[in-house]
Amino acid sequence: MLSDNISRAADGSLRFAGQSVPALAEHYGTPLYLMDEERIRANCRMYLDAFRAAFGGAALPLYAGKAASFKQMYRIMAAEGMGVEAVSQGEIHTALSVGYPAGRIYFHGDGKTPADVRFAMEHGIGCFIVDNEHELALVDAEARRLGRRQKVLLRITPGIDPHTYEAVNTGTVDVKFGVPLETGQAFAFVQEALALEGLEVAGLHCHVGSMVFDEDVFERTLDIMVGFMASLYRSLGFVTRELNVGGGYGVRYLESDRQADIPARIAAVAAHLKQLCADAGLPLPFFLMEPGRSIVADAGMTVYTVSTVKHIPGFKRYAIVDGGMGDNPRYCLYQARYTVLHADRGAENEVIFDLAGRCCESGDIIQPAIPLPADTRPGEHIAVCTTGAYNYSMASNYNRLGRPPVVMLRGGESYVAVRRESIEDLCALDL
Ligand SMILES: *Cc1c(COP(=O)(O)O)cnc(C)c1O
Repeated sequence: MLSDNISRAADGSLRFAGQSVPALAEHYGTPLYLMDEERIRANCRMYLDAFRAAFGGAALPLYAGKAASFKQMYRIMAAEGMGVEAVSQGEIHTALSVGYPAGRIYFHGDGKTPADVRFAMEHGIGCFIVDNEHELALVDAEARRLGRRQKVLLRITPGIDPHTYEAVNTGTVDVKFGVPLETGQAFAFVQEALALEGLEVAGLHCHVGSMVFDEDVFERTLDIMVGFMASLYRSLGFVTRELNVGGGYGVRYLESDRQADIPARIAAVAAHLKQLCADAGLPLPFFLMEPGRSIVADAGMTVYTVSTVKHIPGFKRYAIVDGGMGDNPRYCLYQARYTVLHADRGAENEVIFDLAGRCCESGDIIQPAIPLPADTRPGEHIAVCTTGAYNYSMASNYNRLGRPPVVMLRGGESYVAVRRESIEDLCALDL
């Protein structure tokens, strides 16, 4: 199986986190997001343990909330001792509403508005990751208005292509995030920040992309970033006390995908950083990473009920389900791949189907060309694996469909973390 929290019972029915998927589908209804809480916690501990082993106390993994943001996630992150990064007032509010400590939140985003900056600062957000010069001025002005110095990291674009899908590649020179090194703008950006009285410039941030598998992506990023840190020290006497290298480790969506050995990668990245800093005569900065996908992706599974099966002889078979691009837009957005399994019975007499959604778009495909039993029929359940990241958080109400609930699985029990959106909810804002 794709992940060790997925298995099949003797009767062929699917089990997730040790529980019967068809039984959960019957109990909670479909479409349904399932999340394996123990897997989320284990993934957090994988990072925390690897960070502790490599850096002692001088490092912190920050959960990238955009992967899956709802109250229970922040309760789990608080309990596990993870830091958090947020990109909006909504994410910040969600975290604070369950008592997640504001001082451990890092505030991201390339388009923060004046209202965002004010909101975050009034709520005592620990650190702003400043994306550009305009934001520098905004944060500085707001900090001086409140009579304080706001801790910031400056987002630099190191110019690395992590050999990943273009849509999720953020490290190259011409992306919309951060300030590029190659053009000389990054140096001027740091210089400008250091001159602002409202800011305490703690260090630098970069994020080269998502679905990183190549062994040396973070090492090559560090080569560039530590080189920049050395030039900042030489020219400006500026010591980088914190270095945040972003998120991005890949996960397995298909059996053919590689499995990144994240603890081993972190150990190698740490050794490389220590060597680079020693060679450059720089102190080792406090080290941060921002994993999102690798914390939650394999903790998730989406379950649907087949509404219709269509066969167009000589062309195609569709299995059309009761969800679609509203709960998982990732194939439509960038042809994301997924493993799809019949949830009620095992692989027998399989033929190729497109798994299609119920939205009024011919492009509403959850996943094309997947094998399912030839006699798959309405009323049966279909599971899409590895949907813990960027599914619930990207969901929409297109066609006025309510978003599915998020049901957490823990120790053989289940509970609702986000309830199903009702048709009344859908009209709640209409006047
Ligand atoms: C998306 C993003 C992350 C998380 O990336 P994953 O691939 O989910 O680990 C971290 N940092 C920044 C700045 C991001 O944009």
